[in-house]
Amino acid sequence: MRPNLLDPFFRAITTLPGIGPKLEKLYRRLLGREDEPRLVDLLFHLPTGAIDRRARPKLREVEPGSVVTVKVTVDRHRPAPPGRDRAPHLIYASDETGDLILTYFRARRDYLEKLFPVGETRYVSGNAAFYDGMLQMVHPDRVVDEKGLAALPMIEPVYPLTEGITANMIVKAIDNALSKIPALAEWQETAFLRKNGFPPFGDALQTLHRPRDMNDIAPEGPARTRLAYDELLASQLALGLMRAHNRKRAGRAHAGNGHLRRAIIAALPYSLTLSQHRALEAIVVDLSKPERMVRLLQGDVGSGKTVVALLAAAAVIESGRQAALMAPTEILARQHFNTIAPLAEAVGIRAAILTGRERGKDRSALVEKLATGDIDILVGTHALFQDDVTFRDLALAVVDEQHRFGVHQRLALVNKGEAVDMLVTTATPIPRTLVLTYFGDMDISELREKPAGRQPVDTRTIPLDRLTEVTDAVGRALQDGQRVYWVCPLVEESETSDLAAAEDRFKTLRKRFGKEVDLVHGQMRGSEKDEAMRRFSVGETQLLVSTTVIEVGVDVPEATVMVIEHAERFGLAQLHQLRGRIGRGHGKSTCLLLYRAPLGETAKARLAIMRETEDGFRIAEEDLKLRGEGDVLGTRQSGMPAFRIASPEAHGHLLPAARDDARLILSRDAALVGERGKALRLLLYLFERDDAIRLIDAG
Ligand code: ADP
Ligand code: MG
Repeated sequence: MRPNLLDPFFRAITTLPGIGPKLEKLYRRLLGREDEPRLVDLLFHLPTGAIDRRARPKLREVEPGSVVTVKVTVDRHRPAPPGRDRAPHLIYASDETGDLILTYFRARRDYLEKLFPVGETRYVSGNAAFYDGMLQMVHPDRVVDEKGLAALPMIEPVYPLTEGITANMIVKAIDNALSKIPALAEWQETAFLRKNGFPPFGDALQTLHRPRDMNDIAPEGPARTRLAYDELLASQLALGLMRAHNRKRAGRAHAGNGHLRRAIIAALPYSLTLSQHRALEAIVVDLSKPERMVRLLQGDVGSGKTVVALLAAAAVIESGRQAALMAPTEILARQHFNTIAPLAEAVGIRAAILTGRERGKDRSALVEKLATGDIDILVGTHALFQDDVTFRDLALAVVDEQHRFGVHQRLALVNKGEAVDMLVTTATPIPRTLVLTYFGDMDISELREKPAGRQPVDTRTIPLDRLTEVTDAVGRALQDGQRVYWVCPLVEESETSDLAAAEDRFKTLRKRFGKEVDLVHGQMRGSEKDEAMRRFSVGETQLLVSTTVIEVGVDVPEATVMVIEHAERFGLAQLHQLRGRIGRGHGKSTCLLLYRAPLGETAKARLAIMRETEDGFRIAEEDLKLRGEGDVLGTRQSGMPAFRIASPEAHGHLLPAARDDARLILSRDAALVGERGKALRLLLYLFERDDAIRLIDAG
């Protein structure tokens, strides 16, 4: 249970004076809450900037385009002419060095005349700029007299606002909230705080909301950094607790004597890369421990994850247990199976596949064999979750591209065995900072090298109006015996229009190049898709038009040309995935990114990066810069709230420290019961990582 001490933080904002049900609704929007906002939401709503009112320039000295506070005399009003609502109400004001026009749209005349009595002095504050050669200020933020000025904070924080909530209202609400919160025991180490010049938690909030210096609110300033670090530490602690919990759940040691692994490696037509060796070694170490493995295997497209997964499976099969490999789509499951099956057969591992397509007698026979242990490795899709699918002794679950599966689905698979070890693989390179953020509960292996013999892909960007030239070039490639992917534009509105575009392109290309041209799309039946893929991969067809179904994982080493229409509509990660389909074999590969001109800035930047590099990790970093954190994984991870205070750009560098810190804390006081541990529980509650606390208390 949350300690009572924290109650004030979680009280509804309607307990603050002046906030009733109507404002509450607006605050929901402002603070991004579906439920009633609480004081903590308000307190974590940090200013994005501040206005410095200490400088009081004369009008002649005003820097146009800046926020200033000036002392002026009101000379005259020029209200909007009657009947012309759109025209502004102008107030002419001046000091001894120049003139200033104060401009109001849709404001009530009597109100403005009271606010600016002619002949009197007023301090006005806002953004001053030149319009029509005149210095003007549109809707000043503040208008006060001498007395009002004395009451104004000299540095005023600027908050994100929403219609109906003014700066004044929010400043007052936050002031009230600040006065309600108790001092809390310190959860950070004193030496650490001193070294970084970090204030206590409460002081940091005060400083940010009532800055006395511009630096007080800077993202890199000590107050903000302290809170960001708090937030990162809370997230890393939560992940650490989850990880400890996973591991504590009865593990089993199950790595065999290595005979199957050796046999597979001997049967491979290539030798493993150093990173493949390392990853496998780490996995085998995990498997042999009587603890649960939860490991992420990250590697760019084509880096050779599948064979590592197979070798991991072999390790548990050696000790008489079973493994499962789950892929997000039918095509991928088949492909994994096709990679695995011949190797498995060569060494006597019994492999099978189960997707939505296996039905009737075949399926029953398969399920039966699985239950009796006559299948060693089962590859499949979501179909693996079905209730009647039971293993004799499942020891390892490999989950491919896990971000496409929910946490529940992952668990459903893991629950099909006793103490199942989990290996998650992803071909979506994730920037280091985000890996720690999202997968901090997992151990991580990376396949950074590409297998030997890969050739760089020649990537070019071409405007769509040169389509004929592109088609001619594709024709030459076909004549030359090469195999070509042609990916059709992603159409946002619906899958059907997506399909229509692909079908149209298919028709034109078919007309020109004949039977060599084939089509694959997401609405085809699974068996049809596989058949089309098969024809292409064995060379019965040479040009495969597709929607983005070939995006992930499809492997045809002979394919050397990739045409992507409307490349500007794709995200970087997606383009990278698509391009990863070629450059896998010995031939020289070319990727043609067709775009519709003119390109926007971001699209231009994206395509430039594609030309520049093939390094998925570098691309992921750039993607992060261009798109922001939330999008990089395609979807936000479920159960992983976005950060409220920490930003990847300003505070990402603190993550490793937070992670180390969390590890150290948990190694000393895993149940968070010591003095600092108790304070850290407060931290977890404040950042709403209560789930993690429940895991400890559940034991
Ligand atoms: P990923 O799943 O990481 O995208 P795959 O496992 O599908 O990559 O491997 C891509 C291709 O590279 C496959 O054809 C595979 O046989 C081959 N491959 C894997 N490891 C190596 C290696 N060490 N050397 C050469 N080829 C390899
Ligand atoms: Mg693969």
